[in-house]
Amino acid sequence: MSQILDGRIARDSYKKALSEASRALLTRPTLALIQIGTNKESDIYIAQKKKFATDIDAIVEHMQFAENISTQEVQDAIEKLNIDTRIHGIIVQLPIPKHLDVTTIINTISPLKDVDGLTDDNQKLLAEGKPRFIPATAKGVMDLLSFYSIEVKGKNVVVFGRSRLVGSPIADLLRSKGALVSVCHSQTPDPKSLSKIADIVIVAIGKPELIDASYIKDRAIVIDVGINSKPGFKSKIVGDVNHLSVEKLVKAISPVPGGVGPMTVLSLFANLILSAQKAAVK
Ligand code: NAD
Repeated sequence: MSQILDGRIARDSYKKALSEASRALLTRPTLALIQIGTNKESDIYIAQKKKFATDIDAIVEHMQFAENISTQEVQDAIEKLNIDTRIHGIIVQLPIPKHLDVTTIINTISPLKDVDGLTDDNQKLLAEGKPRFIPATAKGVMDLLSFYSIEVKGKNVVVFGRSRLVGSPIADLLRSKGALVSVCHSQTPDPKSLSKIADIVIVAIGKPELIDASYIKDRAIVIDVGINSKPGFKSKIVGDVNHLSVEKLVKAISPVPGGVGPMTVLSLFANLILSAQKAAVK
């Protein structure tokens, strides 16, 4: 039987301490969340963030902009938030409409309020091993491993995906903890030859159920970061791993939903509270 790495249990266990830290602050930690246009999946993620904020006594200021807004107008809004002392964190809910320059928009966020850890400044600090804010999903993966006492030091780890948001920061963090990390991306010639010998496989590629038993060695640990609508099904969410195919083989696996997702929300608010604490001692 494989062990289920349940992110809801881990999240709830960490949540109490976060709530106490939030309530100990003189001002309520406040996150400005920018949404541009409409996107059903974003609506779900935003609702989860708002609920979590309520649970820990933090505030989410949800700012909604029209689909046809310009990059400059979004930058102007962010500049105002950067100097607003009520605001401790700023995030832009991704994806945003294609006509917008996502890199320019993200880099307009003050690195001190970039609680998603996505600005060039914060990515550089992370790669140098001295992170200011660890990107939430990457932090969520590390905290999930730690909650279930999964040691990464000296382990052979394969990370599928190298996005700025997810795959790359996960690989950076694992390396900083002493793991031997290989990263596979869409151009990697023979990813199975790497993943088939890995002790831990972390998958963040956005390809529903692509990774099956042929990629995974016996008794490996698998973290499935993917969140995808199952093709042909209206509202079924699946990961990037084919759980039916690998479940008998693996030692432990994170489910989808209920694995990394809840940990990501937790980590975002951990970063927000860290930012509010830093602002309080200034
Ligand atoms: P992305 O599209 O930005 O990046 C995907 C990465 O996967 C790229 O580096 C690409 O080269 C690589 N890739 C694509 N096909 C591949 C293949 N066949 N083999 C190896 N690598 C391949 O996506 P992202 O933003 O990094 O998100 C990845 C997944 O994680 C998505 O399913 C997304 O929904 C999910 N996600 C989950 C959470 C969470 O909280 N659980 C948070 C963010 C993203």
